[in-house]
Amino acid sequence: MDHAATTPLDKMVLDAMRPFFDKKYGNASSLHDFGQEAHAALEESRETMARHLNCDTNEIIFTSGGTEADNMAIKGVAFAKKKGHIITSRIEHHAVLHTCQWLEKHGFEVTYLPVDRYGFVSTEDFESAIRKGTILATIMHANNEIGTIEPIEEMAKICNEHDVLFHTDAVQTFGKLPINTKYIDMLSISGHKLHGPKGIGALMLKRGIKIEPLLHGGGHESGKRSGTENVPGAVGLAKATELAYREMKSESKRLSQLRDRMIKGLLKIEGSNLNGHPAKRLPNNINVWFRFVEGESLILRLNDKGIAASTGSACTSKSLEPSHVLLAIGLKHEEAHGSLRLTLGKQNTLPEVNYVTKTVPTIVRELREISPFKRSYKV
Ligand code: PLP
Repeated sequence: MDHAATTPLDKMVLDAMRPFFDKKYGNASSLHDFGQEAHAALEESRETMARHLNCDTNEIIFTSGGTEADNMAIKGVAFAKKKGHIITSRIEHHAVLHTCQWLEKHGFEVTYLPVDRYGFVSTEDFESAIRKGTILATIMHANNEIGTIEPIEEMAKICNEHDVLFHTDAVQTFGKLPINTKYIDMLSISGHKLHGPKGIGALMLKRGIKIEPLLHGGGHESGKRSGTENVPGAVGLAKATELAYREMKSESKRLSQLRDRMIKGLLKIEGSNLNGHPAKRLPNNINVWFRFVEGESLILRLNDKGIAASTGSACTSKSLEPSHVLLAIGLKHEEAHGSLRLTLGKQNTLPEVNYVTKTVPTIVRELREISPFKRSYKV
């Protein structure tokens, strides 16, 4: 129930990758047959990615994952332009937020747009934030904590009209939702969120956009990302992409039904509330807060019952700070701390969903009985 954090590698993906670890292990830059065999597999993987993103093959750059793709897009454009203004939102993943904050220390100006109570960035606010000197806007496709799907197509079009580059972090949506890339200049992908391997991702970078590389070296990936190519990773990402797109329609329908069933079940608990929008959310995302409950305790008790869940993003779960996303949608600290995120995946079944829906109320009741919050927290 924590597939937003990561997903298991699909057996078919593993099978596709396996020969590239031992038999076809060549360096894709070598001129001999071993190298050329690896090179061909790498380029075939690039073609697969391009086909699904409706872009050209040479517009795909393989990276080590979503974090690197985000950094490459944002810092890459910033340093190529040398100065300027960037627009983002307050609910981005830290791979975007911390990158923007770091750029502020290096002289760039950043607008962090607020969101409404569902987590939506307003397209009017977005357009008004564009000014002379705006070089880039970066807004995530869907939020990893509350699942809210942002109107990125509209925002990308607005950017296009204003001659501003538009980047989107599609780590949580790629392979789950169709993406129209017509006006999107850059888009980040991560392999391990769609039953692919960890340590591989991609940046779609449309032709003609200049970025300063983060990694200098042998000039791999058209000089934009040096380092010996991760051929098994690229093959795995491409295979995971093919499978995800093949199953997208049916899986999205199945997951949305399970999601809605779970949400309905959890909201029957007194003093509960849904975080995010009821409909415009990722098909696999459930995020609910419970009054007088401490999220960490809830996670640990669920773990004892064999349920892997989270309070928010896996990257921040070790921090005591409440989630910046939940605070941005207007939750109080106590409410943010009492939130539970459940994210479904393709192996989850209806009996599992029923088990979670049955288990959570018991634990919530037990925790409320011993809650210090109950006395100190006025709602
Ligand atoms: N962006 C979003 C929205 C994410 O959910 C994640 C991972 O949690 C990332 C970026 C980072 O991706 P990666 O783990 O591949 O670096």
